[in-house]
Amino acid sequence: MASRVTSHKTDAVMKLLTGGKPAVNPMVDQDFKESVIEKKKTEPKAVKPTEICISSELITEILPVALKRFNCCSCDRCFASAMADALDCVPYITINVNNDEDMKRAKELKKRSRRDVMRSIIRLVISRRGLERHDIK
Ligand SMILES: [Zn+2]
Repeated sequence: MASRVTSHKTDAVMKLLTGGKPAVNPMVDQDFKESVIEKKKTEPKAVKPTEICISSELITEILPVALKRFNCCSCDRCFASAMADALDCVPYITINVNNDEDMKRAKELKKRSRRDVMRSIIRLVISRRGLERHDIK
């Protein structure tokens, strides 16, 4: 009984000393702990395979250069239609990338495919050479 009274007294004195404000807010502390735990839980992301479309990457790189080189119109409309044709005539090459090793394979595949994709695109661009130009006045 005596010890309970003493502890109660001590609390009252502590409140007086700190101006009635508790020195540590256990609620804030609890929230902080929970938010840290929550963050840690979501940190290890589920590894999803990333699909890289090699053919469309190559087309995006090569097509604008090819249109320019063969003096073809590359206004928005013609570019979109050339892009659609290119996607049709170039075989769909895709690879799943999960890690650095796969990334290396993807780069290798892209390098190997470049010549074929370039050939298809040039054939396509040549066939567009007679089309009207909208980007030159
Ligand atoms: Zn055009």
